[in-house]
Amino acid sequence: MLVQNTVHGVLERLGLESVNSGACGTGWIESPSGGELVSYNPSNRDALARVRMASEADYEAVVSAASETFQRWRLLPAPKRGEIVRQIGEALRMHKADLGALVSMEMGKILPEGLGEVQEMIDIADYAVGLSRQLYGLSMHSERPEHRMYEQWHPLGIAGVISAFNFPVAVWSWNALIAAVCGDCVVWKPSSETPLTAIAVQNICNHVLSRNGWEGVFTLVIGRGSVAGEKMLHDKRIPLVSATGSCRMGYRVAEVVGRRLGRTILELGGNNGVIVAGDADLDLALRAIVFGAVGTAGQRCTTIRRLFLHKPIAPKMIERLKSAYSQIRIGDPLDAHVLMGPLINQAAVDDMMAGLERARAEGGEVLCGGGKPAIQGGFFVEPALVKATPSMPIVKEEIFAPILYVMEFDTIEEAIAAHNDVPQGLSSAMFTNNLRHAETFLSVTGSDCGIVNINGGTSGAEIGGAFGGEKETGGGREAGSDSWKAYMRRQTVTINFSHDLPLAQGIEFHLD
Ligand code: NAD
Repeated sequence: MLVQNTVHGVLERLGLESVNSGACGTGWIESPSGGELVSYNPSNRDALARVRMASEADYEAVVSAASETFQRWRLLPAPKRGEIVRQIGEALRMHKADLGALVSMEMGKILPEGLGEVQEMIDIADYAVGLSRQLYGLSMHSERPEHRMYEQWHPLGIAGVISAFNFPVAVWSWNALIAAVCGDCVVWKPSSETPLTAIAVQNICNHVLSRNGWEGVFTLVIGRGSVAGEKMLHDKRIPLVSATGSCRMGYRVAEVVGRRLGRTILELGGNNGVIVAGDADLDLALRAIVFGAVGTAGQRCTTIRRLFLHKPIAPKMIERLKSAYSQIRIGDPLDAHVLMGPLINQAAVDDMMAGLERARAEGGEVLCGGGKPAIQGGFFVEPALVKATPSMPIVKEEIFAPILYVMEFDTIEEAIAAHNDVPQGLSSAMFTNNLRHAETFLSVTGSDCGIVNINGGTSGAEIGGAFGGEKETGGGREAGSDSWKAYMRRQTVTINFSHDLPLAQGIEFHLD
């Protein structure tokens, strides 16, 4: 009952109290007719809300609104677009506590992580505001006299954002707030597991947009991946699809969008490894490994799934890890003493249990955890430590649950080779105080991932650096550096201010 009251309070303060009637806030389609989706709290399996999905006609209305708005939005100077994003950042600051709590309720991550996710949205809003005055093109020296050559960046169109359940709001903001300052409009299809947080974010945006006369810059389509998601992949009005999710989904997105020569940003599965050298600060490593492996119940794309320990330190580290794992409080993610909430649903629990079975069958040994704790209601599991070898096939797969495979190595070169011997390439880390080891890991023969950390875990990336990974992780980059360029079209301009027509490469072409 206490939890129910909290839910109602949060929904009310976020302006979602009438979400069941499909008529909350401004800018909503009155009665979407695509059927009903129930949002569940994975901690107790209670229904948080019933949400109406978009029908085909609703989808059309949304994409048409985004297309129409784009024609005008692209004409608004980028710093003025930045001002709208600044106001969205302010609105997110105001609603941080409630939105963070709703993320915890609907997704199951602990409250500090729910709040951290909203903070990440605020950080990217700030970043995007600054970026709105820095969408720079280069100028080049022309080989032809009295010619000027430079490049400029124009808005692209509609950016379609397909997001995963585990970062139900932050990943949208990484894309949407950058796309918006770039002059694009955004159509968002969130995970069917987390529609309510998406509605809350849309509601916050709707108020800011309507206050400024810019309805249609951010839009939302709730629906199944196989229905609403597929429509976006095939829709030529959406030149860019930014998709976050499993590798399986990414292959499908790449194939369908690629077939129409659309652009994609793919942020897919990870299988992140940490190498602990014999000279490392083991206290530091232990803290980072436990947070990275157990945080968000192992449901981060950057979760540590593989741990490589130098043989001489392995027995002691394993004992310390077992001790740390036994102290992890599992339970209601809103409880301040809890460090690990539930998995998202029963299928995730089943996947984890099947994964542990396979690990045993392939010769692995479960050192601790891996059971179901005696907590009523939710999809709770105990995080598992599994002694393994790099050649076990299961070690090369991403199981989206808190399973940490522990392996031993003799040389750094052997550890790096095993580290890279998986299909995914998102995040990686090495703990060492030896400059040679660190630089080897950072060199061209070192980690093959998009993200490398020295003396820090694989998760917890900050806004400002480009986030994303190689190989089956999809190659996309978001949230920093020059990743904004994916949301714009580049134009190379050459201006001849001479009285002649010199041709490049010295080609002579005379009409007599
Ligand atoms: P998922 O692949 O099941 O779903 C992701 C999204 O894709 C959902 O919105 C879903 O509805 C949609 N979708 C599914 N099939 C589709 C289709 N045919 N067409 C269009 N859309 C479709 O993933 P999930 O279970 O929600 O999330 C977990 C996965 O996401 C993990 O593999 C995790 O590593 C990955 N992830 C990656 C990153 C990253 O930045 N690399 C970040 C978060 C999550």
